[in-house]
Amino acid sequence: MGSSSDDEGEEYLFKIVIIGDSAVGKSNLLSRYARNEFNMHSKATIGVEFQTQSLEIDGKEVKAQIWDTAGQERFRAVTSAYYRGAFGALVVYDISRRSTFESIPRWLDELKTHSDTTVAKMLVGNKCDLENIRDVSVEEGKSLAESEGLFFMETSALDSTNVKKAFEIVIREIYNNVS
Ligand code: GDP
Ligand code: MG
Repeated sequence: MGSSSDDEGEEYLFKIVIIGDSAVGKSNLLSRYARNEFNMHSKATIGVEFQTQSLEIDGKEVKAQIWDTAGQERFRAVTSAYYRGAFGALVVYDISRRSTFESIPRWLDELKTHSDTTVAKMLVGNKCDLENIRDVSVEEGKSLAESEGLFFMETSALDSTNVKKAFEIVIREIYNNVS
């Protein structure tokens, strides 16, 4: 991770992890951001460990290597290797399932335990398209984020609301932290 120089100038590569309870939409947030794809019947992630997305900041190429769990979170067995070297994290709950919001402090603890550096963190309330069965208010999300010092955003991987924004705020914050 970090920066390196070559003929084309500086390059940045940042590892970002996505964490949160099972079925909150982590894999779909990543596929929406990286490939503009959504899967209504997505099963536990198989195979792909991470996807890389590039963006330009201050005229420099910044690459985000975004890691998705392979479904280990169901067994509370996300390993320390998953967190190692992460400079950013999206901590995700499902606005239609309160228990996933109540798990957030545990995920933040786990992240803290495993990280060795400043991590740019975004609290993400996903599935905001499910307004009719909302179980966590926007205010509750905001207030938790404020008290924990996190960015906050509600997203929908289904209709794309704020997905790009959520990732890019984290990537820009990391860039600001290291540059
Ligand atoms: P993960 O276990 O956290 O990786 O969750 P997945 O990405 O596999 O998604 C779990 C389920 O929620 C799947 O059926 C998805 O289609 C659905 N899902 C994911 N994101 C959204 C969203 O923004 N809105 C709605 N309505 N469903 C979603
Ligand atoms: Mg998944």
